Amino acid sequence: MAWRCSGRTNADLIANMHAARIITTDRVHEAMAKVDRANYVMHKSEAYEDSPQSIGHGATISAPHMHAHAIEHLLDYLGPGKRVLDVGSGSGYLCAVLHHLVPGGVVVGIDHIPELVDRSKGNLRQDGLGSALDKGEIVTVTGDGRQGYSDFAQYDAIHVGAAAPTIPQQLIDQLKSPGRMFIPVGTFAQQIMQVDKDENGKVTKKNLMGVMYVPLTDAERQQRGY
Ligand code: SAH
Repeated sequence: MAWRCSGRTNADLIANMHAARIITTDRVHEAMAKVDRANYVMHKSEAYEDSPQSIGHGATISAPHMHAHAIEHLLDYLGPGKRVLDVGSGSGYLCAVLHHLVPGGVVVGIDHIPELVDRSKGNLRQDGLGSALDKGEIVTVTGDGRQGYSDFAQYDAIHVGAAAPTIPQQLIDQLKSPGRMFIPVGTFAQQIMQVDKDENGKVTKKNLMGVMYVPLTDAERQQRGY
């Protein structure tokens, strides 16, 4: 599926994901159209390629089609005033898209590489989201995302952008009832798991698709090249 949706412009890329039925809702279409991927990549000439790209420090900006899948799956839990946690926020791209889907809410992006957190802030400002940062509508923090981020818990939706060997219990604990998490799980063979917590706190897990993400790991290991 990767590379299939590449375009010459941001609008092209999104139109191609729509035509491929990866984007199926107007809300996701509109939110992704507001975020220019060129503001979040290292090489602007590759901004509209439907592929993951290095952003340094052993991290990659995920492929656009994976971002689209993630948002489509979380969509029922995104809306006015909602709280979202983006674990492994990397470039900040997904924080931007999520921000447009939770007006009046809060998006918390957490990454364990301080240089990436700094750069993500610059990327978000470049993308016109400086006031969202200043107002605390987007919060970017450095920390170990395996522990979630308790200051703003609990969250209506949690997105994890790196593959965990097993689902961290703290992330499940920081999910609201009801709430949903989208998380890649596994070491060699990885699957996206959708973790739902219902209004009574009952947790169910569903396997969505096979994927390849960078690992959710220790900062030192990542900086060493795993
Ligand atoms: N959604 C991001 C994905 C970045 S790649 C984007 O598209 O830009 C995965 C990110 O997870 C990397 O930035 C990496 O630094 C981060 N990461 C890996 N393990 C982590 C951990 N334990 N805590 C926080 N961030 C982590």
